[in-house]
Amino acid sequence: MKKKDVLYVVVPCYNEEAVLEETKKRLKVKLEKLIQTGRISSSSKVMFVNDGSKDNTWNLIETFHKEDKLFSGICLSRNKGHQNALLAGLMCSKEYADIIISMDADLQDDIDAMDDMIEKYSNGFDIVYGVRSERKTDSFFKKFTAESFYKFMKFLGVDVVYNHADYRLTSKRVLNCLESYEEVNLFLRGIFPLIGFSSSTTYYERAKRVAGESKYPLKKMVSFAWEGITSFSVKPMRLILNLGILIFFVSLIITCYCLLVKLFGYTVEGWTFLACSIWLMGGIEMFSLGIVGEYIGKIYSETKKRPRYIISRNLEEE
Ligand code: UDP
Ligand code: MG
Repeated sequence: MKKKDVLYVVVPCYNEEAVLEETKKRLKVKLEKLIQTGRISSSSKVMFVNDGSKDNTWNLIETFHKEDKLFSGICLSRNKGHQNALLAGLMCSKEYADIIISMDADLQDDIDAMDDMIEKYSNGFDIVYGVRSERKTDSFFKKFTAESFYKFMKFLGVDVVYNHADYRLTSKRVLNCLESYEEVNLFLRGIFPLIGFSSSTTYYERAKRVAGESKYPLKKMVSFAWEGITSFSVKPMRLILNLGILIFFVSLIITCYCLLVKLFGYTVEGWTFLACSIWLMGGIEMFSLGIVGEYIGKIYSETKKRPRYIISRNLEEE
């Protein structure tokens, strides 16, 4: 009989004492059911990641672990932010697990969607993205800003899954590949589509936070979005180059115009020289800046040291 796959659920937690008891309770019910019905191995676990919480979160995680071996945890030395905490959890759990599901601590993501994710994994998908079917529980502002962000990312040519946050299933081999993405400015939801492999989506309704408050206030949300854009797209820089080229051509037309006006004698002394200089210099400067930008863009891609290819199958080894 085929050995059952070990599932680890990774949950990053920052000051989540208000919600952790409930999260633990619901995850326990879910995992036990999955184990009983034979869909995952009995060594499956929940791995909480304490992201330098200032409240009682780590004590709670330790107690959960002492009481029940279904729960495990790691503690970061200080607060490193959601993405880094998540990465730490993923990298640790891939050592023990075959399937890893990441989810938030606040139970906004529907735990029952895990069934469908695991089903899709057993049908051969390496990544299953949890996608919010509707955002009924989000405020108009959150919904509008988040959805505009996904659309803007698409416009910039970044491959992101629309309305997908970090609720996703990944196989061990995907996480082994993630290890070779060494970038420090993390935007995980942009990296997974880059890794490739076969992927699928599971739709779910996003609920309200069970307790506690959001750890993503507007300031963090904006800087996270900025991180996403600047870590994945050189398009803003190319925009400068295009603008430079445009202004340069406009300046040529304006120079012709100025010379004609001068020829017919409708100008004051010195106007032609000044007008032409301003436009030509502006165009040349913008154009040069764009060229410098192109090189900086190259340096930026090189320093990321992203893998150039990932082999998904090799018949020599099958
Ligand atoms: N989180 C974290 N470190 C941080 C901020 C948040 O580990 O510095 C965790 C948090 O505990 C939660 C998840 O990231 O499990 C998502 O945060 P939250 O639910 O507050 O974000 P929202 O859903 O409001 O966007
Ligand atoms: Mg949340």
